[in-house]
Amino acid sequence: MKNKEVIVVGAGLGGLTTALRLVKKGYKVTILEKNTQAGGRLNRIQKDGFTFDTGPSFFSMSYEFKKLAEECNITMPFEFVELDPLYSVHFAGDPRSYHLYKDMKKLAEQFKDIEPDFEAKMATYLQKSGALFHDTIDLVVKNNFDSIFEYIATLMRVNPVHLPVLLRNFWQQVGLHFSSKEVKRIVSLVAFFLGRTPFDTMAIYTLLSYTEFKHDGYYNVKGGMYKIVEGIVAELEKENVKFEYNTEIVNIQSEKIRVKSVIDQHGKEWLADIFVINADAAVFRGTVMKRKKFSTKKLDKMNWTMGYLTIYLGIDCKLPQVNHHNYYLGTNYEEYANNVMKNPDTLDKPYYYVNVLSKHNEECAPAGCESLFFVCPVPTLLQKPNWDDRDKIVDSIIADFSNRIDKNIAPHIVSKTIFTPKEWETMINLHRGSGLGLSHTMFQIGGFRPANFDEKFENTFYVGTSTIPGAGLPMAVISSELVCKRVYAFTEKNN
Ligand SMILES: Cc1cc2nc3c(=O)[nH]c(=O)nc-3n(C[C@H](O)[C@H](O)[C@H](O)COP(=O)(O)OP(=O)(O)OC[C@H]3O[C@@H](n4cnc5c(N)ncnc54)[C@H](O)[C@@H]3O)c2cc1C
Repeated sequence: MKNKEVIVVGAGLGGLTTALRLVKKGYKVTILEKNTQAGGRLNRIQKDGFTFDTGPSFFSMSYEFKKLAEECNITMPFEFVELDPLYSVHFAGDPRSYHLYKDMKKLAEQFKDIEPDFEAKMATYLQKSGALFHDTIDLVVKNNFDSIFEYIATLMRVNPVHLPVLLRNFWQQVGLHFSSKEVKRIVSLVAFFLGRTPFDTMAIYTLLSYTEFKHDGYYNVKGGMYKIVEGIVAELEKENVKFEYNTEIVNIQSEKIRVKSVIDQHGKEWLADIFVINADAAVFRGTVMKRKKFSTKKLDKMNWTMGYLTIYLGIDCKLPQVNHHNYYLGTNYEEYANNVMKNPDTLDKPYYYVNVLSKHNEECAPAGCESLFFVCPVPTLLQKPNWDDRDKIVDSIIADFSNRIDKNIAPHIVSKTIFTPKEWETMINLHRGSGLGLSHTMFQIGGFRPANFDEKFENTFYVGTSTIPGAGLPMAVISSELVCKRVYAFTEKNN
């Protein structure tokens, strides 16, 4: 079925990498994107001489990108360099800063006064999370499931030694290994990468600790994260993939068990043999496919990841005291984490993350300036629909940050952009502005997650965050590998 025409709806990383795999196999691909440029959440703002990454700033599991390049027979379309330290953590009222190194000796040095035998404890913890990773990555994470039954049968093949982990949350698992509040809080921070807190993230995701400290680490993508998008788009253009921007799909036309065309906001019909949807797999099924199971009411009842308040600041001074990735935490971690999703008042004293893009990428800010990106986890629009107080919250974050780094940055701000969950919802069609799509709860992962094949139409498939395997850039790349297997199988069957 070579030269079959494929339409990919959405130019997020999942859509772009799917297009790359397919075009290299001889399919003719067109990408329809509602926004004016590719990337989705992995995007870029260029303003007032500064460059800001809009969403992802942590680049991890680099081997998935290398594998993609190898499979597509291209050289890596962007460059990256390992970060050391990986990130830094600062607690309010604690004069120390903790720098997280992959080197275990250097890492242990940070905690020698507060966590006795840290090195041995960390080694045991990482050995356990490494075993979790290796026993599930190929079998469960990188696998297509045709039914819930098949998924459960697969789970039963996972080494039973991991069974007790299913009964715990991330925080409890970390608590089995460490006793100091500082170490427990720092090690469990990675749970926020899945868009929830360590208290409502399953302990199986402690495998992420292995990926950050042992297996791979974090990297600076040279020139900023958007270079990933630029690199892949350039490869796609070489292969004559067509990009149609400002094209939002709002409806479909079907014939029996196939989608015949997708229809954009102007009523234009786009025909193809195969459709791959990179728009959120749950939202698209509800709003465009009009499936009752995904009506707004039903979507509201599902379990969604938190929202993000993101702030992009250009300042006309340097901040040598701030690293590439930094967390600024308060003193009430447990109380904060338990409230952040439901209680908008927790924003009085927000926890936040700061990325200094210009630290290792000077071209991203004018000389003598710094490009700063703040991410603050917040409730979605379901819990906090009104963001009239956003400037007040942003000012309090800027004041807190200034206090922590002992420099008032307010008078130095020359560029400021703010996205609340409202902007995220509008820009990417994220349900209630939820930053990372559907949560990774027991009944929303694997065979329970909205599938990567359509329930009704045999030529329609899904890729990206709210289908399998889940959130994050490496998962988008894996998702494209999984969906392409579906497309190849469909092609084979219909040849
Ligand atoms: C603030 C923030 C920080 C993050 N930090 C990290 C990080 O540090 N590291 C990491 O690995 N991940 C991070 N993530 C997660 C990561 O960004 C996502 O998991 C990943 O980018 C999602 O890719 P995707 O393929 O699902 O597509 P998306 O990026 O969601 O793209 C989907 C595309 O579809 C388009 N679209 C939607 N509906 C339609 C329609 N009807 N018609 C046409 N087009 C449509 C959208 O405009 C968008 O371009 C972060 C996310 C956010 C929001």
